[in-house]
Order: sequence, then C-alpha cells, then structure tokens
Amino acid sequence: MQISESKRLFAHAKNFIPGGVNSPVRAFRAVGGEPIFIKKADGAFLHDEDGNAYIELINSWGPMILGHNHPIIKEAVIQAMEDGTSFGAPTAREVEIAELIVSMVPSVEKVRMVNSGTEATMSAIRVARGYTGRDKFIKMEGHYHGHGDSFLIAAGSGAITMGHPDSPGVTEGTAKDTLLAPYNDLQAIENLVVANEGEIAALILEPVPGNMGLCLPSPGYLQGLRDICTREGIVLIFDEVMTGFRLARGGAQELFGVIPDMTTLGKIIGGGMPVGAYGGKKEIMEFVSPAGPVYQAGTLSGNPIAMAAGLTMLKYLNTHPEVYTRLEEIGIQIASGIASINEKLGLDFTINQVGSMYSLFFTDEDVIDFESAKTSDTSLFGKYFQAMLRRGVYLAPSQYETLFLSTALTDELIGRILQAHEESMKEIL
Ligand code: PLP
Repeated sequence: MQISESKRLFAHAKNFIPGGVNSPVRAFRAVGGEPIFIKKADGAFLHDEDGNAYIELINSWGPMILGHNHPIIKEAVIQAMEDGTSFGAPTAREVEIAELIVSMVPSVEKVRMVNSGTEATMSAIRVARGYTGRDKFIKMEGHYHGHGDSFLIAAGSGAITMGHPDSPGVTEGTAKDTLLAPYNDLQAIENLVVANEGEIAALILEPVPGNMGLCLPSPGYLQGLRDICTREGIVLIFDEVMTGFRLARGGAQELFGVIPDMTTLGKIIGGGMPVGAYGGKKEIMEFVSPAGPVYQAGTLSGNPIAMAAGLTMLKYLNTHPEVYTRLEEIGIQIASGIASINEKLGLDFTINQVGSMYSLFFTDEDVIDFESAKTSDTSLFGKYFQAMLRRGVYLAPSQYETLFLSTALTDELIGRILQAHEESMKEIL
C-alpha cells in the first residue's frame, strides 16, 4: 500500500488547516498513523490519492446508506444544478421534502430544514426552552449532539476521541444548564427531575447511541423516559441524526415504538449534501419564527441542490422497504461473522449491532453506557484499525464510533471483510 501522496498532502495541509483536517477524527490521531486523502468514492469503495481502494464501513459517517455515488442521487444533483445553486427563497422541493419527512417520521408533524445535525440540535433545544419557559436540559454522558456549546459536556464522538469531552471555550454559565445522566439509567433521570423541579425544558438523547461506540437501549428504557417526560412536562427530543432513515424508514422511534415530542435529523436526509432538520409536534414547532417567537434562520437552509439530493434519497427509501431487510442481513452477517471468528480465536470482545450499525469493543464488559465503553483497550483498537486498513478495509478511526453499513456491500465483499478481520486479529494479538 503506497501512501506517499496522502503523506505529502497531510504535511502541506497542516500549514493551512488546524491539525490538517476540517473535522478532528479525520486526522487518525486516536489510531496512530496519518490520514488517507480520498480522491473519489464509488459503491462500497473509497479510492485514495495514491490509487489504493478500500472497502469502507463508515459511509461518510452515515449518509451514504445506498453506497457512494449512487446514480439516482448523482442524476438529481446534476439536474438541479441546471437551474442554479442557491436562491434564498422558498422552493417547491422544500415543501415536498417536508411533507415526505412528516409522512415517514412518526413524531414529526412540522419540520424545519437546516444545514447540519449541529444546527438541528441547537435549534431544537432553543425551541424546547421557548416552548416550556425553562432553561435546563438533560443530556446523556457520552452522547454527541454536534458541536453546539451546551452539548460539549461529557460529549462522545470526536470530543472523547480527542480527549476533550468538556471543551474549553464553553462558559460555566452555559455548562450549568446542561444536566448529565448516564445512559440506560432511569433512576438517574428521576433524581435529576427531583433536584431540578420545574426547571427542565428538555431531555435529549441518541435513542440508540453511536457516538461512544454503539449501545442499545435496555428493554423499557426509552418508554420509561417517555413516561417521565410526559409526567413532568419535559420535551423529549430524540437525536436521530445517525439513526433517522437508517434503523427503519421512521428511525429508532419506529423501531422501538416510542414517540418523542421532537426529533433532530441529519446525515441520510441530505443524501450526502449538508442537510439537517428538526421537527416535532405542531404545537411545539409553531413556536419557531416566523410562526412564533423563537428565532432560527439560515442563508443556505433548504438549498435547492441539497434538497434535490435529500428528496431523492428519502423517496427511494420510502418506496424500497427491502433496503432495510437487506441492511439487517448485512449487519447480522458481519457481526455474527466477527463474533464466530473471535470465538474461534478465544477472544471475548463485545460486539453491539442493530440493523446496519455495529461496534466491536476491545473489552469483555457488556457495553451499555459511557463507563463501560471506556473500559475498551483503545491502543489495541488502533492496531486493529491499522491492520484492517493495510488489508484494504477502512473503519472509523476511533473506538468511540459506530460503523455504518450500506447496501453496496455484496456477500463477496463481506467475505473479504471477515477474512481481513481474522488475519488482523491474528496479527495484533
Ligand atoms: N447528533 C448526532 C447523533 C450525531 O451523530 C452528529 C454527528 O455525527 C450530530 C448530531 C452533529 O451533526 P453534524 O456533524 O452534521 O453537525
């Protein structure tokens, strides 16, 4: 594997871009080595600047559920470009995508399009505060909701990977309104509710967290949260930026049958373009300007090219339920394949999987929350990552991420992934 051009680009990039990358985890800091610079992607493959090809299991951190450069998305973008790239005025496509999202996501009666998951979560919290007239909100340890100030407290994803779960630059004034609880612990929520009676506007969580590696909700946990929030007048927000349109047409809320008051969306919703959205009950969303007093705006919100890509993606998912059956098959094939290889090699590592998301943790503890995720041997993970990369399989460069599978993975490619896993484990242990 030749990577001289990636090396040259990274060295040059560091002169002009902090750390040489535009999003921290891309720098490969947590796994050693240097990042691979990508030239193009197609189906299940990334192609780097040196001409190497990798079977990839991140899919741009989630959006590319149908694989890269899918012809229907490409065609939609090219067609939309013919009419201009940005208008700053309403378009028919925005109405169409809003109507489609409302029909697909059970909790969403009205929706506002934004440009990223970060914007979606920041805005949802503001709306929940405006709606309830309360200031505080509950966030789960190890969950990641983008880089808005009030979320960078015990944050997962790149924040934990880079060793900054509590980012400098977030003021004490902001941090004091973020209340923390461990995931999968209903009693912790009850305690916070008693200690902050009548002051909590919202409870936000990833219903199936992927940002401390993948964890699953314990039976009854999500419904328990729903019951507490209903009883206390707290706005329950499911951050489905990862899980929306991925775990099911209607996301984790459809899969687990628990309906929040608000939902934040991103990734798949843009078909690979920068799009996010937040939505929920009509009576809450009516607080958003200009219908109501809570301000939120965006020069490029509802951008015509991004809407064309997103609308095409959602229409496809809405009319092809077999996508979800196939993704579930792929997820099980890979996770159970890894589990049986590990067993054969006498390894007791934990693997969590749901549908097309999975994480292999380098720990033998059950991973159900941030504390258990942190028992993983991250340096061993780094070795595994590099061993897989050398065998042409590109994983997320951090233990604290989930992998995202796409329909572009064929049985033959799954076989190659499993073979690379077995060889890598034998090499590093
Ligand atoms: N919420 C969740 C659950 C996420 O996983 C992410 C990003 O990975 C975000 C919010 C932030 O989205 P973005 O990176 O588009 O700002």
